[in-house]
Amino acid sequence: MLAFHPIEVLQKRLPCFYVGDYLPSNEEKLSKRNEIAKDFRKLDTKLRSLGYYKTHMPFYYREALKLMTMWFIWVYMSIAGPNHVVNWIFSSLIGSFLWHQVAFVGHDLGHNGVTHNKYRDNLLGILFGNILGGVSIGWWKKSHNVHHIITNSPEHDPDIQHMPFFAVSKRFLNSIYSTFHGKVLVFDNAAAFFLQYQHYLMYIILMFGRYNLYLQSYLYVIRDTFVPYRSTELFGLTLFWAWYLTFLSHLPSWSAVFISMFITHAGTLLLHVQISVSHWSMSCDDVEDEGFAEKALRTTMDVECPPWLDWLHGGLQVKIPNFVIIISLFFFLMFLDRFLLIFLIIFYFIRIFLNFYLQLVSSRSSFISSTSSSQFKTCCSFCKRFC
Ligand SMILES: [Zn+2]
Repeated sequence: MLAFHPIEVLQKRLPCFYVGDYLPSNEEKLSKRNEIAKDFRKLDTKLRSLGYYKTHMPFYYREALKLMTMWFIWVYMSIAGPNHVVNWIFSSLIGSFLWHQVAFVGHDLGHNGVTHNKYRDNLLGILFGNILGGVSIGWWKKSHNVHHIITNSPEHDPDIQHMPFFAVSKRFLNSIYSTFHGKVLVFDNAAAFFLQYQHYLMYIILMFGRYNLYLQSYLYVIRDTFVPYRSTELFGLTLFWAWYLTFLSHLPSWSAVFISMFITHAGTLLLHVQISVSHWSMSCDDVEDEGFAEKALRTTMDVECPPWLDWLHGGLQVKIPNFVIIISLFFFLMFLDRFLLIFLIIFYFIRIFLNFYLQLVSSRSSFISSTSSSQFKTCCSFCKRFC
């Protein structure tokens, strides 16, 4: 309760639902649980008093600027850049990096952790999630909240339910019922085949994981019985496909379209790995009488990362704090993303300079060609290859 709700909800709304205290089955568990819960409450009070739950808006303004700059560079380079495979690969990597980074802003918005106003955070979530990334913020909230509440439970947590491709618990081999998907996750012939190679296939399958997110988004928005902002969500997803397909249609060839689509989507593999690595290797057992913070510590793992690389992981490297203090913001841990912004600005100016240089060389070479001077012919053919 403490981890999931802002202070005004804890103080004003939740008391209306109070019925009584739940007692665990034995005293030893009770004291251990109380100790962890007590420490957790102390930590929460300390962080609140230090102001860690207050939004540092300049961080999000900078994030928005960073994301829009990346979008612009990606689209501009792909369409207006040199008609060359190196350009398509490089620009697509920027596109995949944009979708990687936008997920972290989407995460904070999904937790109502930016403006702390449900309506505004949802609208911004639709802007960054649905329109910029093609993934429904509502679907993400639905699955992610369950993931936080009942982490690594084979029957309940959608983040570890990936049959027939992956099974992180032996219990998946008994065709268990998923309460999230409302169906049995069958251990069939396909599962028997894929699971024996899952440790080899993991990275290859995750390269195509984003297509599943598109599918899940549409299934949620169209079929789910309760979808807040259904029409706005649908409009956002439609807008995403409108700009993305228009963008693809402006690429110079089918090869460029294929390379762009493949690399942009496959590059988001990094995000799927970051998400899965913190949980898949941890306990998937059902433990009775376990407190929220205790469960988070058992099912979640931090990943060591040098401070200068913090910006890349968007808080996922410190997954345990992310789980026990959900509503707090992790911008304090990610200050170093200013380096990415500086890099992008420098890169943008280098790109303008290169364009200018290439145009100069191009006009010079056509001028030299028009003189029909044989002594320049080698130079012209050389330049043309690069222009
Ligand atoms: Zn979260």
